[in-house]
Amino acid sequence: MQTVTIIGSGPAGLTAAIYTARANLKPVVYAGVQAGGQLMLTSEVENYPGFQQPIVGPELMSEMTEQAKRLGVRIINADIDRVDFSVKPLQLFAGKRSFTSQAVIIATGATARTLGLEDEQRFMGRGLSTCATCDGFFYRNKKVVVVGGGDSAMEEANYLSKVCSEVILVHRRQQFRASPIMFDRARANTKIRILTPYRITQMHGDDRGLNAVTLVNNDTGSSERLVIDGLFFAIGHDPNSKVFSPYIDTDDHGYIKVHDYTKTNVDGVFAAGDIADSVFRQAVTAAALGCQAAIQTQHYLESC
Ligand code: NAP
Repeated sequence: MQTVTIIGSGPAGLTAAIYTARANLKPVVYAGVQAGGQLMLTSEVENYPGFQQPIVGPELMSEMTEQAKRLGVRIINADIDRVDFSVKPLQLFAGKRSFTSQAVIIATGATARTLGLEDEQRFMGRGLSTCATCDGFFYRNKKVVVVGGGDSAMEEANYLSKVCSEVILVHRRQQFRASPIMFDRARANTKIRILTPYRITQMHGDDRGLNAVTLVNNDTGSSERLVIDGLFFAIGHDPNSKVFSPYIDTDDHGYIKVHDYTKTNVDGVFAAGDIADSVFRQAVTAAALGCQAAIQTQHYLESC
């Protein structure tokens, strides 16, 4: 039986690991097959405090992982694919292996949706991004496209308009899902050009990164090539919470509901990071939530 199992190895999971290790709780981290979380898909990070110079996302995650290991954290590169939270101790399954744990911290994050185009992996962090707050700064005075018609797309477009020379908002329909106030703000912004009903069918670029996209008009079928410096997908996120259903309560979008900071509806199960936060979604806020979950886990175990 393990004392604390942490599921996920982004900033939330690894911060929870660092804190619980320093509390002598011998945490085990199930890093997942895509270890390191969303920062593994980011290029330079310069809004995570502690680094005078920008640090690339994978290097930041490698530093966090090594820091956790130095404190004795065991990291297992496997996914938890099933749980039974109706029993105590809590039961978890990783492939053919099953084990129990007194407490669990869920830090499985959310995955940004992408369009599923060819070359997404090649251009991710090199002209293609899923986070304007993270990467917008690198497009100062440049021309960018934001894809999406929801609140995220409006927010990202507005954010980028303060940095970029031109923002083109591309949406597949004439109707917008975004709340009227956010849509009106984007529409009134002179730096934002709205293009509907268009879809992006292809990305173009070279070794330096993405430099153009092919746009297709969904009504007429006509296509054009648009030269740009950056492309931001803002078509939503999928929280990685399915594996915890039906035990853990989520909201309508699948984000885990927490109360009293990081507590879930199941005693001894805590949630931290993007899996429980659809609003801020930053590495630093995820790390902070990981710290909270670790301290609350410690208090929980002391009370058992
Ligand atoms: P969302 O509301 O689900 O909107 C996703 C948008 O992306 C939709 O316009 C959708 O188009 C488009 N889309 C999805 N798949 C696509 C594809 N394959 N190709 C092209 N377009 C595609 O997601 P969200 O904007 O991330 O918002 C999620 C939740 O967070 C919402 O409840 C939102 O209100 C909330 N939120 C709030 C704020 C805020 O209040 N400050 C900020 C961000 C998010 P269709 O409309 O055609 O389906």
